[in-house]
Amino acid sequence: MTTATHHTLPAGLRDELVAVVGQAHVITGEDELLVYECDAYTLERQRPAAVVLPGTRAEAVAVVQACARHRMPILPRGAGTSLSGTVLAVDGGVTIAMTRMNRVLAVDGPNRRALVEAGCVNAWITAAVKGEGLQYAPDPSSQPACTIGGNVGTNAGGPHTLKYGVTTNHILGFELILPDGEVVWLGSRMDGGEEVAGYDLRGAAVGCEGMFGVITQVVVRLVRSPAAYKTLLGIFESVDDASQTVSDIIGAGMVPGALEMMDQLITQAVEAAYRFGFPLDAGAVLIVELDGLPAGLERQAAQVIELCRKNRAREVRVAKTDQERADLWKSRKRAFGAIGRLSPNFLTQDGVVPRSKLPEMMRFIQACSRQYGLRIPNVFHAGDGNLHPLILYDERDPDQVRRVLEVSDAILGKCVELGGSVTGEHGIGVEKVDFMARQFTAEDLDAMRLLRRAFDPDQRCNPHKIFPGGKRCTDFAPRKQVAA
Ligand SMILES: Cc1cc2nc3c(=O)[nH]c(=O)nc-3n(C[C@H](O)[C@H](O)[C@H](O)COP(=O)(O)OP(=O)(O)OC[C@H]3O[C@@H](n4cnc5c(N)ncnc54)[C@H](O)[C@@H]3O)c2cc1C
Repeated sequence: MTTATHHTLPAGLRDELVAVVGQAHVITGEDELLVYECDAYTLERQRPAAVVLPGTRAEAVAVVQACARHRMPILPRGAGTSLSGTVLAVDGGVTIAMTRMNRVLAVDGPNRRALVEAGCVNAWITAAVKGEGLQYAPDPSSQPACTIGGNVGTNAGGPHTLKYGVTTNHILGFELILPDGEVVWLGSRMDGGEEVAGYDLRGAAVGCEGMFGVITQVVVRLVRSPAAYKTLLGIFESVDDASQTVSDIIGAGMVPGALEMMDQLITQAVEAAYRFGFPLDAGAVLIVELDGLPAGLERQAAQVIELCRKNRAREVRVAKTDQERADLWKSRKRAFGAIGRLSPNFLTQDGVVPRSKLPEMMRFIQACSRQYGLRIPNVFHAGDGNLHPLILYDERDPDQVRRVLEVSDAILGKCVELGGSVTGEHGIGVEKVDFMARQFTAEDLDAMRLLRRAFDPDQRCNPHKIFPGGKRCTDFAPRKQVAA
């Protein structure tokens, strides 16, 4: 592992990068670099030495090769919406931002696939194919901004991955520039079959958090858009009742397209921001979306309503029009954006528990909120047991920051204790490196390191992520306090 720091560009590298992408696409000014000092995990910040924005595959390859010649760490980056510091330039290096390479290059409707550049925004794929009755299913709430390269990097999920699966289930193959500049293709090509022979290196590389190289192009799987939807809003007096309903719906053998929960605090913030019509006094609301052929939907909806009532739902509303459904989803997917009304800062946690443990876990989070004196609204993929406690704080108060880290520790520790995971979809980044040792044995982690070294022997690509024991940002005192 590299121990040197790389906060300035080596002599000559800047000229080489400018020669490849042009002056306008090499950023080295201190103020402009501020934009790239973190992602949506803002507790740790560090500027890279430079940001380079290639516009073509050939440019991207030349940029990686130039950095390899100078032994400079590289940090692949999409839109920078990651919530766990997966793009943090811990000890400098060159951020390679792929946002200029953002086109849908080709669509093959009959074979249900599309070739897109890595910087293509998630929502643009469905926009490009919906005329053919198709969609790209994984729909992170950040989908109007996040890129497909970033989705592959974090193996992103979303509200509808309960039924459709996460990113890895929808990626057929992609081109990867290895850190030494060699270009490889993993998985199936645009004109290939569904499966390839040999080890599934594509699968191994999805979720690698930018540590295997720079992705330039991706072949995504397209699926038919559902013929019909039935979208319900269950309104409950308590999180407990809503959680129990989630367990009961799945227990009844149904697999809704989405099953999302918001507790009272976040519902109030969302209502203040978007005025959808959520009740302000409800303990929790549950969004249940059924999709598929129209024939069975009414029967399933009746069953969901019955289960909601069994768990003391005060009311169950059914979206009557497409517009009502769209407004409901807009409010849900913009929930994080409403947090600004509650607090100057927030940390989004991303733990997973078995669905049946949801009521116990939610009670634990509420107890943590009281114990640590921090407000913790929750908006999450309840059907997957994938929690997103949003821990509210003010970063100007070091004691609050300390408590944020302690409460994160307690919540994620409980997820592991209940048989879950320290991440459902946001990845490990720098945020959760210490937790990896709790979830995996030293042997497991060594096996993962070996895999990483097969792609990046020098460990120069997006260093200090995922594995415990890496460097941290030197100016980040509160985490050191907690670790000590
Ligand atoms: C409001 C909000 C809502 C969110 N909702 C969800 C959600 O519902 N589900 C979910 O899963 N996540 C969600 N996220 C988190 C985030 O949007 C996802 O992790 C997303 O996949 C990141 O995409 P990005 O383009 O921003 O990538 P970045 O944040 O730029 O990068 C993410 C990782 O991918 C790597 N990477 C990026 N591009 C490339 C490339 N071309 N080649 C190689 N590696 C690359 C990076 O090195 C990094 O490790 C949300 C975030 C926000 C701010």
